[in-house]
Amino acid sequence: MEPFSYRRAEDTETALALVAAHPEAAYLAGGTTLLDLMKDNVLAPDLLVDIKQLPLRGIEVTENSVRIGALTTMNEVAHEPIIRERYPLIAEALLASASPQLRNMATIAGNLLQRTRCSYFRDPVFACNKRTPGSGCSALAGENRMHAIFGTSDHCIATHGSDVAVAFMALDAIVHVRGTSGERRIPLNDFYLLPGTTPERENVLAPGELIVAVEIPTTFNASRSSYLKVRDRTSYEFALTSAAVALELDGNTIRAARLALGGVGTIPWRVRAAETLLQGAPLDKNVFADVAEAALVGAIPQRENAFKIELVRRTLLRALTTVGGLV
Ligand code: SF4
Repeated sequence: MEPFSYRRAEDTETALALVAAHPEAAYLAGGTTLLDLMKDNVLAPDLLVDIKQLPLRGIEVTENSVRIGALTTMNEVAHEPIIRERYPLIAEALLASASPQLRNMATIAGNLLQRTRCSYFRDPVFACNKRTPGSGCSALAGENRMHAIFGTSDHCIATHGSDVAVAFMALDAIVHVRGTSGERRIPLNDFYLLPGTTPERENVLAPGELIVAVEIPTTFNASRSSYLKVRDRTSYEFALTSAAVALELDGNTIRAARLALGGVGTIPWRVRAAETLLQGAPLDKNVFADVAEAALVGAIPQRENAFKIELVRRTLLRALTTVGGLV
């Protein structure tokens, strides 16, 4: 690990100013990703600005949304009654993530910003465009069983590792960020960047901007929803595939649907075209099978992960039949 300085920020303005003055600085909250990457010499910030004391923790219910403070821990969100009641898919996604110890440390904003689990990214011996732009992508011809089948490029095929980001993506969550010039709201759908030719840029945050909250609009009733995660082992493992599903019903007819996939995209993968097939459709397994097929449009398997095409089809179908009450 490279040497670094440490400052604890007592208020948000101080934190923003410190990072603005040090281009190589990083915010430190739960630290569950950052410290690992520093120990592995993947990241080497010269200054850590500790933001754990900032008043950005807690869940607030307003008329039109539920607002989750950026420093609220994963476990706090997962066990919040309003989240479990209105957004079961969020609680399920969080509880399927990491270990209880990590969920007590990791914050909701840190989870959205977690870096990929691509093993080549985490080992400086290997070429990796995301870690060292222009160096190449070792995963293209290497071990890529866990990698993405949606949103890939010739420069990077790494998956995004967050589970709860998939649930947030389905729910049209909005990320609130602050910089030295003020606050702005970014729909999560516009927050993540596809790798393209610049996989080192993963989101639209400007240098020094800090996530302060995640807002979930209440326009969609997600009380009937679920997050299904398929993985090699049932604990402390990243998704091979996952599906976030929410259905608004009118009797046996689907009024509206929200669908997103995890473990398969370079970003949390919303499948809007498949959603539209569900609008006004009956609760029917044949309809769900067509929807799962439609969700696969654009999938490009890598050498070792063609199995993900069938697996994600079955994952989505299973989640739909569960939420639809057909199992
Ligand atoms: Fe790096 Fe992306 Fe290639 Fe992995 S898939 S080695 S993160 S460029």
